[in-house]
Amino acid sequence: MNAASAAAATEAARRRTFAVISHPDAGKSTLTEALALHARAITEAGAVHGKSGRRGVASDWMEMEKARGISVTSAVLQFEHQECVLNLLDTPGHADFSEDTYRVLAAVDCAVMLIDAAKGLEEQTRKLFDVCRHRGIPVITFINKWDRPGREALELLDEIESEFRLKPTPVTWPVGEAGYLSGLIDARRPERMLRYTRTPGGAQAATEEVLSAEQAALDQGVDWERATEELELLQADGAEYDEESFLAGKSTPVFFGAAVSNIGVRLLLDAVVELAPAPGARELEGGGERAVDAPFSGLVFKVQANMDPSHRDRTAFLRVCSGVFERGSTVTRAVNGKPFATKYANSVFGQDRSSVDIAYPGDVVGLGNAGALRVGDTLYAGTPAVFPPMPTFAPEHFAVVRPADIGRSKQFRRGIAQLDEEGVVQVLVSDLRGDQAPVLAAVGPMQFDVVSHRMENEFSAPVRLEMLPYHLARATDAAGAEGLGRSRIIRGEVLTRVRDKELLAVFPDRWQAASFERAFPDARLDPLLAAHE
Ligand code: GDP
Repeated sequence: MNAASAAAATEAARRRTFAVISHPDAGKSTLTEALALHARAITEAGAVHGKSGRRGVASDWMEMEKARGISVTSAVLQFEHQECVLNLLDTPGHADFSEDTYRVLAAVDCAVMLIDAAKGLEEQTRKLFDVCRHRGIPVITFINKWDRPGREALELLDEIESEFRLKPTPVTWPVGEAGYLSGLIDARRPERMLRYTRTPGGAQAATEEVLSAEQAALDQGVDWERATEELELLQADGAEYDEESFLAGKSTPVFFGAAVSNIGVRLLLDAVVELAPAPGARELEGGGERAVDAPFSGLVFKVQANMDPSHRDRTAFLRVCSGVFERGSTVTRAVNGKPFATKYANSVFGQDRSSVDIAYPGDVVGLGNAGALRVGDTLYAGTPAVFPPMPTFAPEHFAVVRPADIGRSKQFRRGIAQLDEEGVVQVLVSDLRGDQAPVLAAVGPMQFDVVSHRMENEFSAPVRLEMLPYHLARATDAAGAEGLGRSRIIRGEVLTRVRDKELLAVFPDRWQAASFERAFPDARLDPLLAAHE
C-alpha cells in the first residue's frame, strides 16, 4: 500500500458525512447551528442560515435568497468532534422542495431525520425518508422541540415503526413529557440522568448536570419512574440499538431533545461519530466497487453557477469517494475521458471560499472553472471508475416558458440550455409546442422562481411562465405517445426530456394516468424514480 492510499484509508475512517432531513420548520437550521457550535466550527450562532432576525447569511449566495431570507443553495459545514471530521451537508431549507435535496443525499453516508415532537411525521419527512431508503442510507432520528407540548414519545415511535417499517431503537429517552422536559436518560447508562436547566429567556444553552438514579428518583418523582419504566418496556420489546439493522436501514436509533436550548445535541453529535458509518467502498456502474484506498475518485452532486458575483463562474460540488484529492492535479472526467484541471478547488462553507489543497473520502470540495462538469459526473485518477447515474426524480409541477422579449430568443435558448445542464429544472419539448415554448418540469415550484430570476439577471432574457395543469409524470414509449396524441378523452400529453431523450407522459392526476393505462395496455407507463435507478 502506498502512502496516498494509506492516508486515504486512515482519513476516511475518521470522516462522517451526513445531512439533516426534515419538514420545514422542524428546526433544521437551529439544529445545524447547535451542532456546529458544539463542535466550534463557527463562532456565533446564526452564521449558518440567513433567516430574518438572525445574524449571518453565510449560506445565502444568491440575491434572491437574501431577499427572501431563504437558502436555496447548499453549503457544507466541516468540523471536528472527538477526533473525527464531520461533513454536514446542508439541504435546501425553504418551504419548497427541489431535486437539489435529493442530490445531496447521493453524497452522504448517513442522514439525521429531524421530527417535530408536536407534529410527528410530515409530508417532506416522508419524501426524504423514501429517498434514504431507496439509496440505503442509514437514518438516525432526532425528535425535536421536546421543550414544548407535543405528542407522547411512545406514540411517535409507533408512528415511525408503522409508517416507515423502521424499528425505532431509543438511545436517549426523555424524562418528563413534551413541554415538561427535565432531562434525558442515555439508554446505555440508565443508572443516571442528565438534567437540563434552561435559562430564562431561552437564548442560551441549557446547563447540564448528571444525577444518580437515586437523586433523579427523589427530584423528578413520577417523571423519572415513568421514563425508566417506558425504557425498560421498550428494551423488553427488542428496541435496543442494533448496529447491523441500523446500517441495513431496518432500524433507527432515536434521540430526543430541544435544539433551540441545545438539549440532547451533544448526545446526537456523539452518535454521529459513534454510530454513523465512515465512507466505504462505493458501487460502480456496471458492477464492482471502488475501495476508499483506491486512487482518487469523486462524484459531482451539484453544479452551481455564478456564486461569486464578481466573476461569472460555475462551481461543481464534488464528494471525494476514494483516494486523496490534491488541488492542482489533473484528473479524468469519466463520461468522455477528457482531462480536468483541479486548480480552483475551494471549501464550500457558505461564502467563505478558501482554497482546499487536499481532501479525503467523505469530504466535499467546490471545483471552480467547472463549465464542463455536470451533475452525476465521475472524476477519477488512475484506474477508471464510473459511479451510477444520479436518479432523476418525478417532477410534479409543469410550466411552459417563453421569452418575454422575442428579440432575445437566442439568449433565451442559451439560458434555458444552461439551466437544464445545471439541473436547475428539467426541460421538456414537444413538436406540438415548438422550440420557443419548452416545458419546464420541477419537483418543487420554487425551481421556477430560480429560473425566472436567473434568466432575467444572468442571461438578460426575462421569461413568461404559464403553469400547466399537470402533476404527475410517467416514463412512456412511442406507443404511449401515439396513443395519448390520439385520445380525445384522457387529459395529458407526451413530452421529450431534453437531458436524456426520455419520453414523459404527463397527467393532471393519477386517475387520468389510470385511464391511460386501461386504454393503452401495451404502452409503457413506468414511475420515474424506479425507471432511472
Ligand atoms: P427549519 O425550517 O427546519 O430550518 O426550522 P428552524 O430551525 O428555522 O426552526 C423553526 C422554528 O422552530 C424557529 O422559530 C425555531 O426557533 C423553532 N425551534 C427550533 N428548534 C426548537 C426547539 O427545540 N424548541 C422550540 N420550542 N422551538 C424550536
